[in-house]
Amino acid sequence: MKLVYTHENRLFVGNAHNLLTQAGIPAIWKNESTSSAIGEVAPISAWPELWVLEDADYDRASAIISNAFSASDSPAWVCSQCKEINEPAFEYCWNCQMEKPESAV
Ligand SMILES: [Zn+2]
Repeated sequence: MKLVYTHENRLFVGNAHNLLTQAGIPAIWKNESTSSAIGEVAPISAWPELWVLEDADYDRASAIISNAFSASDSPAWVCSQCKEINEPAFEYCWNCQMEKPESAV
């Protein structure tokens, strides 16, 4: 088993988990239940972690996640509604589900 992704925001980890599931790569969460309430910054030791069950899947999983989260050269975008910062791969705001604006920078 290998740690493939971690982030203080559990929704980012959930997004990564979905990507791996869609790709047929078995992965599990760790620390899922210990993350603090949204808005608080959890200590790094409590960040949710995404682990691939098979070491052989690690390279593929890592590539899928890095491709998705650093998609093209697009920068993170700021939600026009709630001002939260979103990963470029997100089509909707993780916080309020506002659609990503076409002109996001
Ligand atoms: Zn928002």
